[in-house]
Amino acid sequence: MKRLLFVVIMVSFACTPVESVTPDFVLKKTTLKQGEFFQALVRNVKDQPRVWFNTQEYKMFRVDDPEQWLPVDAAKRIEALKYKTYRALIPVENLTRAGTYSVLARLDGWEERIQVKIEDNGKGVSHITLSGDKSGISATAKELNIVGSSLKTQSYRKLWEGKFLYPSEATRSSPFGVKRSYNGGPVSSYHKGLDFAGSMGSPVYAPANAKVIATGKEVEGFAVHGNTILLDHGHALTSIYMHLSKIEVADGDTVTKGQKIGEVGHTGISTGPHLHWGTYLYGVSVEPEVFVTEEVL
Ligand SMILES: [Zn+2]
Repeated sequence: MKRLLFVVIMVSFACTPVESVTPDFVLKKTTLKQGEFFQALVRNVKDQPRVWFNTQEYKMFRVDDPEQWLPVDAAKRIEALKYKTYRALIPVENLTRAGTYSVLARLDGWEERIQVKIEDNGKGVSHITLSGDKSGISATAKELNIVGSSLKTQSYRKLWEGKFLYPSEATRSSPFGVKRSYNGGPVSSYHKGLDFAGSMGSPVYAPANAKVIATGKEVEGFAVHGNTILLDHGHALTSIYMHLSKIEVADGDTVTKGQKIGEVGHTGISTGPHLHWGTYLYGVSVEPEVFVTEEVL
């Protein structure tokens, strides 16, 4: 009798379809330059996976994957809906040493590593000589706190759609990522944005749908940044607009792609009227041109 029961149990186990869906870990790019970012996707999971690059963990956000979710038939669609796709847009900080790194994804008992190759951005070094008391103005604690915390915003909802617009119609002047050495010292910083040589009062547009995280005025302590707007695009992507003469939005406003949000100026530390536009992922500045030239889904 016992043996028969055992056999019956074994048969019933064998007949039950066992779910054995393995997570699928994909990197959209495996060779990239300093200051760029890569998409890490984990498909076929029921819970939020975790992902690390260069010892830093990046929060993953759920994304809908139309290819995976296409309803083949009702039963398969219900089955497919049980599985989710998560993504992180992982920044490669512009001063990251060129070389090979591994990206690790993990969920419960599963883990997988993929190698990425980081190359020099090839933009060279700008040697700057500062004489004595040149930097008379320094950033206030207030602006550093507001800018620093705003740029680290990680919102669950993705607000942008399609490619970004340039926030200014003016000629692009200083590019992103040029490294800086002061008084012959080692490279210690770089240009964290893209500049536009806009004339005084020329319009500044929201390059994509967003929510205004914060604004700051020169007269209220934004000594270096000048009049500033900080936007949240969701999924840890934020952007900054500096040195404005006029701000036309308020904290918490929702802005749409192409909407005028302010005007070019030369407030804060600025040698003449221009717009400084920065894009950030998890608080790390990344090449803004990528969002204009490539569609980041
Ligand atoms: Zn700039």
